[in-house]
Amino acid sequence: MANKTYFAGLVGGIKSLCTGLGVTFRELWTPKVTERYPENRKENIIPERFRGTLVMPHNENNEHKCIGCGICQMQCPNDSIEVVTEMVETEDGKKKKILKQHIYDQGKCMYCMICTRACPQGAIEFAPEYECAVFDRQALVKTLNQPGSKCAEKPKPAKPAAPAAPAAKPAAAEPNGAAPAATPVAPAADDKKAKMEAAAKKAEENAAAAKAAAEEALKAAEAAPEDAALKAAAEEAQAKAAKLATVAANFQKKLAEM
Ligand code: SF4
Ligand code: SF4
Repeated sequence: MANKTYFAGLVGGIKSLCTGLGVTFRELWTPKVTERYPENRKENIIPERFRGTLVMPHNENNEHKCIGCGICQMQCPNDSIEVVTEMVETEDGKKKKILKQHIYDQGKCMYCMICTRACPQGAIEFAPEYECAVFDRQALVKTLNQPGSKCAEKPKPAKPAAPAAPAAKPAAAEPNGAAPAATPVAPAADDKKAKMEAAAKKAEENAAAAKAAAEEALKAAEAAPEDAALKAAAEEAQAKAAKLATVAANFQKKLAEM
């Protein structure tokens, strides 16, 4: 009986060895696809959608599109972004919030692209830069806005032509007794609100997805109470869901204030 087991194991071992060697010999003759990195640095073609590192594009006048709204910071699930702003006085005496520093910690980034999708201005994007290794983690903390840069001014919409005299007076009520038509919203404000609504909707979706994931994780943890890893994962998922719910609530609050 013992001999039978011994020979069965031996045959099984030889069979598995032949299978492995078969793969090795087959790969000896297949075309090679290994990239000769770093020799091929210049010819290396990186796919367009490769997520290398977060950048803030600037135009030739050292202007970017960031308005310092902080949405990317609120949306980032890993706290990889810090938006530092300051209040300044404009030429016409109004207060305006501007971006001081857009700090990105690549060491914390998981390349999910939530920030770029949430940005209402399209001010940040992923560049296909892949040589990001450094010896000091602190070197992964980058300021994305360039020194001396500023937010590009949007071209002001042309002033509408002056209405004819009778039309200038708002009617107290329509002849049929209906309330007068509401004052039209300025296109820029309309645009901003629409973007904020889209970002709020996205935040709601993210919060709902995180909540569902947390519920799943909780169920899995309850099914195996002895599994510490499942319990930790459930706790983490719940914390993330709570955070995203707060983000979504903040959006709704901002939207209500607009
Ligand atoms: S890609 Fe994801 S993790 Fe990285 S900064 Fe953007 S939101 Fe944060
Ligand atoms: S969401 Fe866009 S505009 Fe707002 S702070 Fe972030 S990068 Fe700037």
